[in-house]
Amino acid sequence: MKVAVFGSKSYDRLFLEKVNQKYDHDLYFITPNLDLVTAALAKEFPAICVFVNDILDRPVLEILADQGVKLIALRCAGYDNVDLKVAQELGLSVVRVPAYSPYAVAEHAIALILTLNRKTHKAYNRVREGNFALEGLLGFDLHNRVVGIIGTGKIGRITGQILHGFGCQVLAYDPYPDREFGDRYGNYVDLKDLLTVSDIISLHCPLTAENHHLIDDKAIALMKPGVMLINTSRGALIDTQAVIKGLKSSQIGHLALDVYERESNMFFEDLSAEIIQDDIFQRLLTFPNVIITGHQAFFTTDALENIAETTLSNIAQIEQGKVCPNQISI
Ligand code: NAD
Repeated sequence: MKVAVFGSKSYDRLFLEKVNQKYDHDLYFITPNLDLVTAALAKEFPAICVFVNDILDRPVLEILADQGVKLIALRCAGYDNVDLKVAQELGLSVVRVPAYSPYAVAEHAIALILTLNRKTHKAYNRVREGNFALEGLLGFDLHNRVVGIIGTGKIGRITGQILHGFGCQVLAYDPYPDREFGDRYGNYVDLKDLLTVSDIISLHCPLTAENHHLIDDKAIALMKPGVMLINTSRGALIDTQAVIKGLKSSQIGHLALDVYERESNMFFEDLSAEIIQDDIFQRLLTFPNVIITGHQAFFTTDALENIAETTLSNIAQIEQGKVCPNQISI
């Protein structure tokens, strides 16, 4: 099938081209993200391939449908950037990669916890400058600390298992609890209890209309003073202004974000020579106890291979008129 791959980077091309030797789709790599302006580039493509920060709202979907696009292949798991109702209305099929490497994301969440706690990022620079002082590097044992996992799907479960292995007391909240996880690794509690007693809180639920700004002023006020908050899920689960207030009052003692609610114009790009215009983001960077990574939790060779394989196989299944288990229905 002829596919326009939007927002493609060198690594997307590398892995998709390698796996495509088996599928033989006609792949066209387009550098800009999909939006109202770039949607015109999809003309004459029956399929497009997109990622987390491409925009697929009504106006964009209407342009795509008008131009003859029939298939939207997401090369990611989350689909909060797609208006599924409109896609259905316009007869556009949407497929995704429900799981590519939950280990990649869970392990990145752990890396953020360890870095925030033991300040290895600061130690690295200090030692290279001949500064061997320990002031400011004090951490705490993870053993016996209470960790709250919000969302125990594929990624949250693995994060909880790893932390259980560290000797943490794992608590979990999920509207659909997983019995095996509850029996072996953690105790399910209600959200309020999790927020109140956890030393570390890690978010692993999808972004939905219901949980937009799940972590707001009220939720932060319930948390233990000095709590560590980790978000590798979706930016808008957190009200960033509320978190800044929490950091200023020291209610939040450590914050690590791999995702940010207004990341779409910044993340995945090299803006090192530009002036970042997002003052809220810039304020976050001024805190010594904040670490931000640019949506890289998924970024392992294993994950990119799996993404390429599932994306191209999804497209082949739809092209051949087969049932695709990764098609999203509403
Ligand atoms: P999953 O579908 O396997 O699990 C999600 C879990 O969250 C489910 O068990 C669901 O019941 C639960 N849930 C839904 N709403 C909830 C709520 N309001 N509160 C608590 N739990 C809730 O998904 P997954 O593969 O584990 O991925 C989780 C999220 O991680 C994705 O939705 C995506 O946003 C994010 N993600 C981020 C990256 C990255 O690179 N940073 C990569 C992949 C996925």
